[in-house]
Amino acid sequence: MAKFYSSLDEIKREIQSGGITVEGLVSSYLTQIRSNAHLNAFNEVFEAEALSRSKIIDERIKAGTAGRLAGMVIGIKDNICYKGHKVSASSKILKDFTSIYSSTIVERLLAEDAIIIGRCNCDEFAMGASNENSYFGPVKNYADNTKVPGGSSGGSAVAVQANMCHAAIGTDTGGSVRQPASFCGLVGLKPTYGSISRHGVIAYASSFDQVGPITRSVEDAALLLEIMAGADDYDSTLAQAPVPSYSKKLSTDTSKKKIAYIQEALSSPGVDTEVKTALVQYIDKLIDEGHTVKPIAFEFLDYIVPTYYILATAEASSNLARYDGVHYGYRSPGATDLQSTYKRSRSEGFGKEVKRRIMLGTFVLSAGYYDAYYAKAQKVRRLIKEKTDSLLEEFDFILTPTAPEPAFAIGKTEKDPVVMYLYDIFTVQASLAGVPAISLPAGTNKAGLPLGLQLLTKRFAEQELLNFSKYFLKL
Ligand code: GLN
Repeated sequence: MAKFYSSLDEIKREIQSGGITVEGLVSSYLTQIRSNAHLNAFNEVFEAEALSRSKIIDERIKAGTAGRLAGMVIGIKDNICYKGHKVSASSKILKDFTSIYSSTIVERLLAEDAIIIGRCNCDEFAMGASNENSYFGPVKNYADNTKVPGGSSGGSAVAVQANMCHAAIGTDTGGSVRQPASFCGLVGLKPTYGSISRHGVIAYASSFDQVGPITRSVEDAALLLEIMAGADDYDSTLAQAPVPSYSKKLSTDTSKKKIAYIQEALSSPGVDTEVKTALVQYIDKLIDEGHTVKPIAFEFLDYIVPTYYILATAEASSNLARYDGVHYGYRSPGATDLQSTYKRSRSEGFGKEVKRRIMLGTFVLSAGYYDAYYAKAQKVRRLIKEKTDSLLEEFDFILTPTAPEPAFAIGKTEKDPVVMYLYDIFTVQASLAGVPAISLPAGTNKAGLPLGLQLLTKRFAEQELLNFSKYFLKL
């Protein structure tokens, strides 16, 4: 198996010293993918392409013309378009669909000589927190195969956790980069809404969706963010400001900070005791180091999950209307007329959770209930955003667990979807507010499962977030 490299810099040094080649590296990842096929992390591996590209990158490195990601082998979540390759969103409805163009992020990654080794399994249309909602079956956590990897970018996280590639790209609508990163002991960054182009990324809930890296190090997260972020003519929601050189400016920030933590994370019976212990340990370490750490009561905590699920499902019901058996994707062979084409194709093509959300979203947007649910949720979102912003004026960071529990058993939430929704309690705040948040590995529990803690900060303060994360990991 390939050596575990903690960062791309380490790989680059080893290439320079003649210890490895990119071709050798790709071969060892492919071997690792093959011998761990049972984890189900990839929906497809681009084996031949990755190998032939690795030879080209080796040549470029020798010639001194290689891009900044030469030596970085990545997996992309299967909701990110890559021209000429299939993209399915882990749904039957798109299972045979081939991208006719590449997403902006794929173009930017390839332009810097990254190698894309395959498309990673995920929850269908990125809806879920356990990667059990995939048409291609659940993904298993590498640390314990009976546990979920988190979701929805579960395949992306396991691909990195099990060393099947060096880094992966996920999407985060309500926690889908951060939560699987925490379940797999990795760094997961959701940047500020409006940082990274969503062009060519299959939409779930457009006012929340953001692409983010899943990596072993803060250094790699900084580099990938810097390369993927920035204005794009195809996405009008993006900030136009030049992207800072996050990786060059990355330095361990040891200055004294003001940090808030949400009191309920320690008092709520819904939070696992070992997660609480990890949080307390970090709070104590931060206090010992001279930072100001204060508990805060976030009065909207009970509302953040319902608000998120009303708005995200409303947006999803609209975004997923395009999968109708006519425009593209699966068409039921049993369809006889227009009505039955829609009905049968959608009934047969979508999985249970996606259907539930389309119905929920359609309901909250329907004429009789719009004001009671959708319009009200928009107002509550505004309150949550304003409260989060004002807290982040007072404090440099908000610290929370990434998830209330470590990776749970496959099948645990099968009977009650609401139990799964409640697992998003700590991640959706940043999504509703549009602020950046990062999940950082914080040791393991007694059973050896990874734990993660999350830091939130002000919009576009990614540099401060990354610098402090580097420090945090050394605590
Ligand atoms: N678990 C959340 C959901 O199911 C978040 C998913 C995501 O971020 N894509 O909506």
